[in-house]
Amino acid sequence: LRIGLLGGTFDPIHLGHLQAAAVATEGLGLERVSFVPAAVPPHRPGPEASALDRYAMVCLATNGHRSYVPESLELDREGPSYTIDTLRELRKAHPGGEVFLIVGSDNVADLGSWRHAEEIFSLCEVAVVLRPNEPEPPLAGLPGDARVHRLTGRTLPVSGTAIRDRLAAGEPIETLVPPPVAEYIGKRGLYR
Ligand code: ATP
Repeated sequence: LRIGLLGGTFDPIHLGHLQAAAVATEGLGLERVSFVPAAVPPHRPGPEASALDRYAMVCLATNGHRSYVPESLELDREGPSYTIDTLRELRKAHPGGEVFLIVGSDNVADLGSWRHAEEIFSLCEVAVVLRPNEPEPPLAGLPGDARVHRLTGRTLPVSGTAIRDRLAAGEPIETLVPPPVAEYIGKRGLYR
């Protein structure tokens, strides 16, 4: 089984995330992409929406995509959400599976500093999806034996931050997230 792992804050999930999953799926022949919202991201300020709301939006956005699977494993764990723990769990759940860690190009420079980075690189291959308006990422921070794929498909120039800013300003977000996610945000009054 060729599995993609797309982790993030998903605050909220948006079309850029779905396109990144699609680019990785096509480029690497993935049979499944696990979407893993972080409960407590170790390397950035806490998300604005609750973990449960972010997970619910991931479920809504991936519903209808056969191979996209929402995973609650980081929400079920105590403490900061480390990718290494998620990778170990995924590998245990799918022995013999091959895991591809999907990251946007803005994230690549940091990868080498993640907890147990060397073990991360031994347990998975890295799929870098170029974000629009981002330069081709330097891979200098990664160990020489990391297995890295650069994927050339382009995604929408959208980010969680841009969506939160638009909502706070009362601007529409309908073209940036799947319809059920826009509906959920409105219903719950998130990011206002
Ligand atoms: P924020 O602005 O809150 O940081 P984000 O959408 O950039 O929001 P995450 O939800 O943490 O942040 O992103 C999860 C993963 O998806 C990261 O690896 C990120 O690089 C990637 N990603 C997010 N948006 C895009 C996009 N438009 N194109 C490609 N990759 C993306």
